[in-house]
Amino acid sequence: MSSATHQTLQRTHRVLILGGTSEASQLAARLSERSDLIVISSLAGRVEKPALPAGLIRTGGFGGVPGLIEYLLKQSIDVVIDATHPFATKISCNAEMACKQTKTLLIAFERPTWRPQQGDDWVEVPDVESAALLVDKPRNRVFLSVGRQELNRFSECGNAWFLIRTIDKPTVPLPQSSKLILSRGPFRLHDERLLLQQEAITHIVSKNSGGEATYAKIEAARELGIEVVLVDRPVIPRTTVCTHLDKVYLRLDELLAGHPAWKVEPTEDTTRL
Ligand code: NAP
Repeated sequence: MSSATHQTLQRTHRVLILGGTSEASQLAARLSERSDLIVISSLAGRVEKPALPAGLIRTGGFGGVPGLIEYLLKQSIDVVIDATHPFATKISCNAEMACKQTKTLLIAFERPTWRPQQGDDWVEVPDVESAALLVDKPRNRVFLSVGRQELNRFSECGNAWFLIRTIDKPTVPLPQSSKLILSRGPFRLHDERLLLQQEAITHIVSKNSGGEATYAKIEAARELGIEVVLVDRPVIPRTTVCTHLDKVYLRLDELLAGHPAWKVEPTEDTTRL
């Protein structure tokens, strides 16, 4: 039997990774090495030159829940892995709904939140608007690293000075008094410390994204006694979420083996694995 014929006889499962995060790229790199899987990563297309994950890639929105349902069916997707950013609520909710309606299996991954440590000076706020209200005071020098999409919440700020860091150039008006730097993580503690000192930063505004790639600014703030205004994560209603990549691999294998442990009864609270 030729190897081509042998390949066509092998049962492959089609996995869609909803990506755009470093963990999604790690998943794609590991899973695309497996001969029993065809891995497609989906990117929102927000970043001009994204770091491309291994395996197949598609880019851009699906067109809401109906578009995602159509895609899952047309592409015969067996498993969806939602490894999107913890603040990307819309795509995660869409994935929950589309997978439910099409009976496609879904594994959700969400990295743990950052937790305050001794020496941290944090103010936790529910949203970016509250953060803008809190920091826009005369003499404040604010390091803003909330990404591009919610920068417009700071456009009207006229009291504080802002150091704004984004990957691509923002398209919204920046605060009256501000400086822009374009840079992509991961960021190192030494560089973050230097930046905060050089710009005499008094406050940092950040989302509680979790993960290591952008944590250095939080560590540097702790060392320098800088207040961090941390935006809480939105709640994504879902039954089960994996908080470590190892659990994702385990769940996937259980699922592919038809393991009964896969069948989790829905509860009101999210089960964190
Ligand atoms: P979102 O609000 O959940 O998604 C908005 C729409 O974008 C979705 O409805 C979907 O369009 C499309 N979309 C999002 N992710 C997609 C994916 N992986 N593949 C295909 N389509 C996708 O998410 P967001 O607009 O990307 O981001 C929301 C917030 O999350 C941002 O404010 C940002 O702070 C944060 N975020 C951070 C990072 C990061 O690495 N720092 C990355 C992403 C997001 P359709 O409805 O048309 O399918």
